[in-house]
Parts: sequence; C-alpha cells; structure tokens
Amino acid sequence: MSTNYLAQPDLGFIAELRSLGGETLKKCYQCATCSVACPIAPENSPFPRKEMIAASWGLKDKLICNGDIWLCHNCGDCTDMCPRGAAPGDVLAAIRSAAITEYATPKSLAKAVNDPSKLPLLLGIPAAWFALLAIITMGFGGTMEKIFHFLFGDALGGRLHWSHAHEGAEHVIAHANFVSTWFVDITFVPLAIFATVVFFLALKRFIVDIHNNAVLEGKTDKTSLDYKALLMSIKNVIPMILKHNKFTQCGSNKNRATPHMMVLFAFIGLFIVTAVCGIMLYVGGYAGPYPQLNPIKWLANIAGVALVIGSGIMIKSRLTNKEQITTYKDWFILGVVFALGLSGMLTEMARLAEIAWLSYFFYWIHLIAIFNLFAFLPYSKMAHIVYRTVAMGYADYANRK
Ligand code: SF4
Ligand code: SF4
Repeated sequence: MSTNYLAQPDLGFIAELRSLGGETLKKCYQCATCSVACPIAPENSPFPRKEMIAASWGLKDKLICNGDIWLCHNCGDCTDMCPRGAAPGDVLAAIRSAAITEYATPKSLAKAVNDPSKLPLLLGIPAAWFALLAIITMGFGGTMEKIFHFLFGDALGGRLHWSHAHEGAEHVIAHANFVSTWFVDITFVPLAIFATVVFFLALKRFIVDIHNNAVLEGKTDKTSLDYKALLMSIKNVIPMILKHNKFTQCGSNKNRATPHMMVLFAFIGLFIVTAVCGIMLYVGGYAGPYPQLNPIKWLANIAGVALVIGSGIMIKSRLTNKEQITTYKDWFILGVVFALGLSGMLTEMARLAEIAWLSYFFYWIHLIAIFNLFAFLPYSKMAHIVYRTVAMGYADYANRK
C-alpha cells in the first residue's frame, strides 16, 4: 500500500516538541540504529527512526495519530546507541506529551496543566475549596445536621447523617469532623465522572486515528475497525501491562519496572480500599475511623507505603539519571503522586499520635493532592496508562509483533 502524506512542516509543532523535552530531534541523520536497538519495536515498520524523521519535519498529523509512539516505554536503549546523540526515546516522550494535549478537551485546561506558571492556580483552587468546606463542616455542623434531618428524615433506616464519623467522634480525631464525607464525595464523584467523560471523548478519536494511520502506513491489513475484537485484544494485553513485561525487555533502564509496579499496584489497592469503605459506609452504615486491625486498614497502609516508596524511587532516579530528560510534566505527576502517598501516611501517623490539628492539616494536603490527580488525570502524564493500554491492545489487534 502506498503511503500518502503531504509534507507540510509545522514549525510550531517542532518548537512544541523541543519545549517538551525533544530538543535533540534535529540531530538525527536517519542511520536507523535506533530501530534496530529497540527491544520492542515490531518487525513490520519498526520505530523510532520513522518517527524521528517525521518529528524533524514537523509532521504533526503523522505523529499524533501514530499508535507506535505509545508502544515505546522510554527505556532509553535507542538513545544509548544513537551515534548522533539524538535521544529518540526523549523525542517519542515529547510526542506522547503533545498527543495527550491534542486529544484532551478542553484544551485550555490541558495547556494549564503543562504550564508551570499555572501551578499556583491548580493548587490554590482546591486548597481554597477544601478550606471553605472545612470551615462549613466545623463551624456549622449543628445547622447542617438539622438540614439533613429535615431533608432525609429516616431515609435508609436513619443511616443518612450529616457527620459520618462514628458515635462520640466529636471527641476523637475523625476526618469527617474536619471535612464532611458528603463534601468529599460531592467533590470527587463529579470529578471522576468528568475525567471519565474526557477520556471517553478522547479515546473515540484516538482509536479511529491510530487505525487510519496504521492502514495508511501499511502496518495492518485490517482495513475496517472491529471494536469487539479490539476490546478483546485490550483485555489480552492487561496481564502483560500488570506484569510490566515490556519494561523488563529493556536493557539500560530495566530497574524502572519495580517502582512502576509498586505505584500501579498501590493505586489498585487504594481503589479497592475506597470502594470497600464506600460500601461499608453507605450500605452497611459503618463509619470510620476503622481500627488498625481491620484488614481494609492493612491494605490501605500497605498501598500507601508502596506509593511513597515507588514514587520516591522514581523521583530519585529522575534526579540522578542525567541522560534522561525530565520535563515539568514528569515532575508534576511525580510530585502529585508522592504528595498523595506521603500526606496520607502523615495524616494517619498524626492521628495515631493524637495531634488533631496536624492530622487535619495533612488531610487537607491529601485532599488537594487527590483533587489534582482526579481533575487533571486526562491531561497529565498519568493519561499514559489509558492511551498506552489502548495502543498496546490495538497493536495486538493489528498483529503488530
Ligand atoms: S535517532 Fe539516532 S540512531 Fe536513530 S536514526 Fe537518528 S541518528 Fe540514527
Ligand atoms: S526508548 Fe526504548 S522502547 Fe522507546 S523507542 Fe527507544 S529503545 Fe524502543
């Protein structure tokens, strides 16, 4: 099949890639060593040489829609072998970063998440929001209780209360006494729905685009897109993603697999904890704080420690590995994940030490970190997990081996 692209260099896109960590893209002289060195590039139309030439010409349409950019795990093997110091691994990372911004809506939010000058705003808005909710919770608890009683009466067998802290909790450190669980839920449930809708809209375009690109470039002989078969392929690659098989195929940065797995499994653990706590509270009427011997507490603590250690190792390796470019986007997500884990652990430790004001302070930081994770998930580097999973599923579907 012939490949037809109108070569219209986009100088703005070249500048964007350079600002996102792809400074070296013009150094490439197309020797193809990188495509040979890459341990995971498919034999049919391998990467990253072809992406390097497209990047140096600023062919935005060819790159953003290219599913292959998501197959790369940024191991750096190609960068080590490149005779020109063109760092193709970093250029592909820059293209992925630009693709996330391109597919996410609204664009203004995507740009704000990538702009360091907007960081005070991104942190300040949730900080002010949760401070306001804390003032209402602590200052107007009695009034809110009456409003709740008026609205819900004996609904759910009298389990609907303003405060979700257990009985006598006004005398203990219970975070529902600082920011009501209702306020936490009416903040995070809509945010989670918002992130899901943004991803859904983005993936609708993304799947069609990577398929059209694969057909146009002769990477697949499946000209029509079978969504059911694609879903099966996505399901097939999930065990490989969980085991981080692709990371372990790398040469120079093989050890990245362990901290990545720690963070991934920590999030899975925290998701289970949140779901179980929600069921215990809204169905069983069993409010926290839960005793330390409760198994759900063990899981929460193990996941919290794994999150702190895993993200801490990633931060350390970014600080010490001078050969790999670390952009603002990398620091943003690493900072959010580390702050999320650490503030959660410190909240718990301060509660056990019975220092209420300190525990509530760390809980406030924790809520700000969760807000940043949820609200900006489709725009931050964390979006990789979604796009890469779909692209790997598509590669399986298209028989790109
Ligand atoms: S990026 Fe480096 S290794 Fe790859 S084709 Fe260009 S010069 Fe060769
Ligand atoms: S960074 Fe690693 S996975 Fe990505 S293209 Fe280079 S060798 Fe392949």
